[in-house]
Amino acid sequence: MDLSGILKKAREKRFALTPSEIASLLDVEAGADRADLFEAAYAVKCMYSGRNVSLRGLIEMGNACAKNCLYCGIRRDNAKVERFHLFEDQVVRMAEWAHREGYGSVVIQSGEMESDEHTEFVAAILRRIAGFSGGELGVTLSLGEQREEVYRYWREAGARRYLLRIETSSPELYRRLHPPDHSFHRRVGCLRALRKLGYQVGSGVMSGLPGQTVGHLANDMLFFRDMDIDMIGMGPFVPHPDTPLGEGTTLSARYLSEQLHIGLKMIAVARLYLHDVNIAATTVLQTLAPDGREQGLLAGANVLMPNITDAAYREKYMLYPNKPCIGENAGQCRGCLSLRVTGIGEAILWDQSGDSPHYAARCGNRTGAV
Ligand code: SAM
Ligand code: SF4
Repeated sequence: MDLSGILKKAREKRFALTPSEIASLLDVEAGADRADLFEAAYAVKCMYSGRNVSLRGLIEMGNACAKNCLYCGIRRDNAKVERFHLFEDQVVRMAEWAHREGYGSVVIQSGEMESDEHTEFVAAILRRIAGFSGGELGVTLSLGEQREEVYRYWREAGARRYLLRIETSSPELYRRLHPPDHSFHRRVGCLRALRKLGYQVGSGVMSGLPGQTVGHLANDMLFFRDMDIDMIGMGPFVPHPDTPLGEGTTLSARYLSEQLHIGLKMIAVARLYLHDVNIAATTVLQTLAPDGREQGLLAGANVLMPNITDAAYREKYMLYPNKPCIGENAGQCRGCLSLRVTGIGEAILWDQSGDSPHYAARCGNRTGAV
C-alpha cells in the first residue's frame, strides 16, 4: 500500500496498521512524505482534543538515584553531579503556585529511591496538595519502580497518574542500556500494578538509541497497545558525556537533527496508531531545536510539561546536556510557553487537569472526543 493509503487507513481506525506499515511510517524521509505523516497525525489529535494543549507543571524533586541507567546524567555513579532534594514545603509551594497560575496538574519527578521514609515523604506531599486544591490539581508521579503497596499508598494519598517509561520494549536492547541488576520484567510488572490500582498509566521510550532499529520502535507501538497505556511521554536519546552510553559522542548539528526527526516521527506514529492517548511534546525536543516542542505539537502531541522547579535546582537535574530553560523561573516559562502555543494556533487548557481520553473511555466515559 502506498503512503497515502496507509495514512488514510490509520486515520480512520486505531490499531489499523500492521507492524510493517508502522515501520514504513517510521522510515519516511524528511520532506513531503513526512509533512503528510505529521498532517495526518495532527488531524487525529484534533479529533480527540481539538486545537488544545494540556499543561503539566514539572517539579524536579531531587536528583539522588539508586539506579545506574547507562544513559542518564544523574545516574548513581556520576560523581560530578551535586545532589539535591527539595523539602516537603518547597514541593508543596511549587504545586500551590501551579494551581494558582491555572496549571491543571503537576508532575513530581525524581531519581529512584525506595525507602519507608521516601514513601511517607511523598504521601505527605500528596495529602497536602489534595488538601489545598480540594482534589482539583491533578498529580502525576514519576518516581520510578516501587513495590505495589507503595503505589497503592500513594494512590490513596491522592496521586492519580504515574509515568514510568519502559525505555524500550525490547528486553534485549533494555539489557544493553542498563546494568545487570536492572530488570525489564520488574518494570513491566510495575506498569501492570499501576494499571490494576486505577492509575492513569503513562509510559514511553527513548528513540535514536545506539543499536535501536525501526523494528524495535514499531514494536514499542505494539507494546503501548498491549499494555493499554493512557499517556505517552517519549523523546529522543541525547548522549550525556558523563555516562557510559554518552561519553565520546559528538553532538553535531546533523546528529541532533536526526534525533529530532525520529522523535517527531515517533509522536506522529503513536498518534496515528493509538489515537486517543495523551502524548507529551517533551522538553528534550527543545534541546534539539528551539521550536522542537511546537514541532511535537504539530506532529500530534497534545501535552506540554513546562518546568516549574525553582531555577536554582534546574541545572542539577541534567539528564542530558543542553537542557533548555535552566536559567528561567517558572513565571518566565509560563509566559514564553503561552506565546509559543498561540503562535502555532493552539490554545492552552488552563485550569483543567486534562485526563487522557483513552482513560476516560476505559472508565466507561467516552467524552474525550470533541
Ligand atoms: N527515575 C525515574 C525513572 O527512571 O522512571 C524518573 C526520572 S528519569 C530521569 C525520566 C526519564 O528521563 C527516563 O525515563 C529516561 O527516558 C529519560 N532520560 C534519562 N537520560 C536521558 C538521556 N540521556 N536522553 C534522553 N532522555 C533521558
Ligand atoms: Fe535514575 Fe531514572 Fe536516571 Fe535511571 S533514568 S538513572 S532511574 S533518574
